[in-house]
Amino acid sequence: MLKNSPPMRAAVLCCVLIAACSNTSASPEQLPPAAIGADTCRKAEVGVQVLGSGGPIAEGSRAGTSYAVWIDGRAQLLIDAGPGSFIRFGEAGLKVADLKAIALSHFHADHSAGLTGILNSGGFEQSDEPLMIIGPAAGSVFPGAGDFIRAQVGREHGAWSYLGGYIDGTEDKRKLDVREIAANNTQESPITEVEIAPDLTITAIPVHHGVVPTLAYLVKVKGRTIVFASDQSASSIGFEQRLRDSKPDLLIAHHVIPEGEGQPIGLHRPPSGIGEMAAGIAPRQLLLSHHMERSISRLEESLGAIALHYRGPTLIAADGTCVTL
Ligand SMILES: [Zn+2]
Repeated sequence: MLKNSPPMRAAVLCCVLIAACSNTSASPEQLPPAAIGADTCRKAEVGVQVLGSGGPIAEGSRAGTSYAVWIDGRAQLLIDAGPGSFIRFGEAGLKVADLKAIALSHFHADHSAGLTGILNSGGFEQSDEPLMIIGPAAGSVFPGAGDFIRAQVGREHGAWSYLGGYIDGTEDKRKLDVREIAANNTQESPITEVEIAPDLTITAIPVHHGVVPTLAYLVKVKGRTIVFASDQSASSIGFEQRLRDSKPDLLIAHHVIPEGEGQPIGLHRPPSGIGEMAAGIAPRQLLLSHHMERSISRLEESLGAIALHYRGPTLIAADGTCVTL
């Protein structure tokens, strides 16, 4: 009934327009979208900026998955660091010295392959504070967060061992404080809360993403709640139930696949599954990100499938998009 009702149709079109504006609008100075979004987020008490709205395939102008949480004019938390997020990081004017933590949802390359470039950039800044790195523990063929970091900047066998100052806080590098969190998605999975700073906590919730150890994150900051659902399938045990009372201001879901046969539903939720998840969690607003050509080309169909379950506003992420909270 909702799918074809005029008000919902109008809402869907409105969302598409928001996406188009976010993606293509440019100031007279032709600033990149990430700079325009940063200007909005910088003025807000709390904002979430999309640094990478894409997936694993190099398509169009989308970087791999990455989000910055702006607090009081500075981006202080990074969620994921996909390839290409490095350039968006620079376009947005972000500083590694401002980051208190980087949380990685899982070690698929489209979520994590940009990390070393960002750390390398931070080597040219001044900060004595440790930098917290949060990520899943090992499973299947995937390393845990500790081994992942050591494989990159470890002094012994790191591919970029010259950045080993990040391991021990020498050579003007920030010492990485790695927090490895169990990521088995079972009914008994613990959910782990980490205090990053006063009034900034992150809670890791294991989700199902095939055999890949994966964490969704719930961030609480200055009275706002943001849920980064990450890559997850509809087989994620207990996800909606655990967040039922969280009343998030924003739920970010990954629009990786379209509705229909032949899609990798063992890895990702189809749009109808996103709608069911959103209906169970009841966020104030939903932001669709991690688009791929196969999904974004069928956006209207996806929005229709979501709207059958979730009636709140649905926004569409582009690289640079800022959502103020
Ligand atoms: Zn993934």
